Amino acid sequence: MINPFTDEYFMKKALQEAEAAFDKGEIPVGAIIVIDNKIIARSHNLTELLNDVTAHAEMQSITAAANFLGGKYLIGCTLYVTLEPCQMCAGALYWSQISKIVYGATDDNRGYVKMGTQLHPKTKVVNGILADEAADLMKRFFAEKRK
Ligand SMILES: [Zn+2]
Repeated sequence: MINPFTDEYFMKKALQEAEAAFDKGEIPVGAIIVIDNKIIARSHNLTELLNDVTAHAEMQSITAAANFLGGKYLIGCTLYVTLEPCQMCAGALYWSQISKIVYGATDDNRGYVKMGTQLHPKTKVVNGILADEAADLMKRFFAEKRK
């Protein structure tokens, strides 16, 4: 049987979160956290609504997943996020010791790779999953903002 739980499958769920952010006028970034093919956290950027620069999708998913698991470490978990994490989120992900990060589009301005932020040595990274879809959503968002 074909495993339906691919990185694309879960990234689509993260993209749905990004679309929810878009609809609220938030920068459209979505994230989910998965353990054993089960989604335990889903969130999207809420920096406008909460008036909080730390309310990135990843930060909320980290908190929600730790609450669900009843422990602060996210060992065995995978984060799916539509955009490359920033330094702040990469720092939080470091502390979480999360096992895997899958992201879509790269962020050439504020992404952690360019900034030289180190992830936890145990964290595996996959990138470019549904990157075009995530990047298009961002482009559409900023194009509408400029109108
Ligand atoms: Zn961030």
